Amino acid sequence: MGDLICPKCGEPYESYGITYARGEGDLTLDEVKKFLEGAGCLSCGFGTICPKCQGGKIEKNNCPTCFGSGYVFAKRCPSASESRSHQWFIGYSNSPTYPLRFLDQVEILREEKPEESLDGIVYVAKVKCPDCHSEGELCSECGGDGKFHAERQPDYFDQAVGSLLDNSDAAPIGVLTRFMRGAQTIQPSTKQGTTR
Ligand SMILES: [Zn+2]
Ligand SMILES: [Zn+2]
Ligand SMILES: [Zn+2]
Repeated sequence: MGDLICPKCGEPYESYGITYARGEGDLTLDEVKKFLEGAGCLSCGFGTICPKCQGGKIEKNNCPTCFGSGYVFAKRCPSASESRSHQWFIGYSNSPTYPLRFLDQVEILREEKPEESLDGIVYVAKVKCPDCHSEGELCSECGGDGKFHAERQPDYFDQAVGSLLDNSDAAPIGVLTRFMRGAQTIQPSTKQGTTR
């Protein structure tokens, strides 16, 4: 079993959790559905964020808090018994290298999927790093806007379609058609004038 290639950014994903046991791999069922519609993958935020800086907008700096990415994932649990967890925090209670830290202010870059916990729903957000504030040399791929630029990406389309064909058991012509349509609409600049 091989990898499926994201048609937008070229990121490989183990095909098992996408075309065989859907939702049991790195992608949730919902994400599998979007992937099979050719919308992209997690790495490119389904065609919305720069795959290189992941929306952090900078080249890696040497900030230890965010490991150079300019962003961290913060959580908050409004129903937690421990009241300090009602505010945004980063880190882990049992980690000496990445201890819990509570943040008074956060600059949210993107809301992530909430998580379930024994204390109730945990909200997750990608936030600007509280230490380096996402400052550094601008990302060379997106020019520092953190967005996905289809025209600056290499063309992964053929590779992606090939990988889907190689890694599905039945020839899923419906799936393939949907995948190609989704994958193609976002890359019109590179497809103009070519014969289909
Ligand atoms: Zn992708
Ligand atoms: Zn970037
Ligand atoms: Zn930082």
